[in-house]
Amino acid sequence: MTHNKPAQAIQMVDLKSQYLHLKEPIDTAIQQVLDHTGFIKGKEVTAFSSALANYTGVSYVIPCANGTDALQIALMALGLQAGDEVITPSFTYFATAEVIALLGLKPVFVDVDPHTFNIDVSQIAQAITPKTKAIIPVHLFGQSADMEAILDLADQHGIAVIEDNAQALGGTYTFSDGSTWKTGSMGTISCTSFFPSKNLGCYGDGGAICTKDEALYERIKMIANHGQKEKYHHEIIGCNSRLDTIQAAILNVKLPYLDQYCAARIAVATQYNQAFAGNEKIKTPFITAHNKHVFHQYTLQLHASIDRTKLKAALLEAGIPSMVYYPIPCHLQKAMSAFTDPRWVLPHTEQLAQSVLSLPIHTEMSTEMVAYIAEKVIALTARS
Ligand SMILES: *Cc1c(COP(=O)(O)O)cnc(C)c1O
Repeated sequence: MTHNKPAQAIQMVDLKSQYLHLKEPIDTAIQQVLDHTGFIKGKEVTAFSSALANYTGVSYVIPCANGTDALQIALMALGLQAGDEVITPSFTYFATAEVIALLGLKPVFVDVDPHTFNIDVSQIAQAITPKTKAIIPVHLFGQSADMEAILDLADQHGIAVIEDNAQALGGTYTFSDGSTWKTGSMGTISCTSFFPSKNLGCYGDGGAICTKDEALYERIKMIANHGQKEKYHHEIIGCNSRLDTIQAAILNVKLPYLDQYCAARIAVATQYNQAFAGNEKIKTPFITAHNKHVFHQYTLQLHASIDRTKLKAALLEAGIPSMVYYPIPCHLQKAMSAFTDPRWVLPHTEQLAQSVLSLPIHTEMSTEMVAYIAEKVIALTARS
């Protein structure tokens, strides 16, 4: 069966249609903030931190301005010294690594597992030195890193774990004892982003830091607020990072729908997986048995015989956008050249940067759209 091009334009994300489903409550929530004018630290911000703490199962949530700030503040809260080492994957959005360098710490990149795209724990073990103070696993594309192995290793060495949960809010990880934890609730600290296209997106920038540790919570709260507990008494050097009340008001309306949003993404991914099953030219995302993958991205690995640039162009001609996340790994970015380290041997990362392709996936996709996209991808790759 062949599917015609859907009448509605295909987009990587469709924020407009998603908004229209919740237009009334969102407009009302925004209007309420305009009416009370508590634009900074309004009651909606406090309500949102409690709601997110409740959702993820952590004790404390500190909302902040964006996901990058969340990572920076988390690292600042650990009180590290210049030159201390932080282990992280290179196959991630640049922000994860950028904040390490920004704080005068040393990013130590390790390779990823070529199936899950997530940090390879055996590589972490080899990269640890007495200077290693933290590991930042990234739950890439919506799937948790192997947290049990990472936490065990970190415990053995007395190292903190900061989860970069910007792409996986709503996902879960099940430990070998059978207990299931939300992503963002397992590490020493976790960070997330509410950038509009993320699984829980606001209508501008937003982020949050989660922790179960009360002392860290107090410190993080201070750092995000100019290092003060009491107004005009600055105890430590911090920064100014706040979630706007309007953004919190929007997130309060959207958070109850997060599980539904994740389910919609999983349904799209499942349909793609079925359509691509058995295809030798394209490898579908690998889902580990102990993970609930919430598909922030649906990312294929293309066979070496496929010209990715040509495929992207041909898809676009058929009305199908696609993206390469990420074309240049962090360790090969110009900005990182000063930090180069002999431990940076990352063949899987470099191979993935050449071969991955992310297809449209969002909460508003129809089965017709997915069928049309899958059919075009199959037809266009069959000839290569
Ligand atoms: C989006 C993202 C960030 C940064 O979040 P911002 O809110 O854009 O600052 C960090 N890490 C990862 C993996 C991301 O996807």
